[in-house]
Amino acid sequence: MNIEQILRERAGEQCELCGSSENLVTTAVDDDKDDANKCVLTCGVCIEQIKNPELIEPNHWRCLNDSMWSQVGAVQVVAWRMLNNLRSEGWPQDLLDILYLDEEIQAWAEVGSQAGAESGLKHIDCNGAILSTGDTVTLTKDLTVKGANFTAKRGTAVRNISLVFDNESQIEGRINGQRIVILTKFVKKSG
Ligand SMILES: [Zn+2]
Repeated sequence: MNIEQILRERAGEQCELCGSSENLVTTAVDDDKDDANKCVLTCGVCIEQIKNPELIEPNHWRCLNDSMWSQVGAVQVVAWRMLNNLRSEGWPQDLLDILYLDEEIQAWAEVGSQAGAESGLKHIDCNGAILSTGDTVTLTKDLTVKGANFTAKRGTAVRNISLVFDNESQIEGRINGQRIVILTKFVKKSG
């Protein structure tokens, strides 16, 4: 079987992202077209938006609510990257917060994302340790959270942080149920 047949079988003749059966094509997640494990079957709408970020319609990607739970690593990677690109919409961040990827898949997802390759930014804590998405950090000073009207106490643990990919002095995390931006110089990596 060629790659396309393998994918069509795996996907049940449906777009692995949105479930559509229109204009299905094999799409390599990165460049490796010869390995079915590194390809996804996508419909015409999905692939057009993946290839042309300026055409992205955020609401189309609500389909990731389901497909991000795919057992296929390549699908998880595409879902994670798209959710990351759309984080500012709010709901994608909520999905990212509950999406758990195996370490290996997470690393794959990050390598090709804007967070990694393009920016080349390094997020560094107060001790010079490199921070990664998913890390747990503790606050090294009391922080007043603007607009939220509370102070996050020194020593507060913030789990499952994400990196602000265009600003290496900032990370994001949840404190008291609120998603806030925290300066990397005021955190220490745990563990
Ligand atoms: Zn699709």
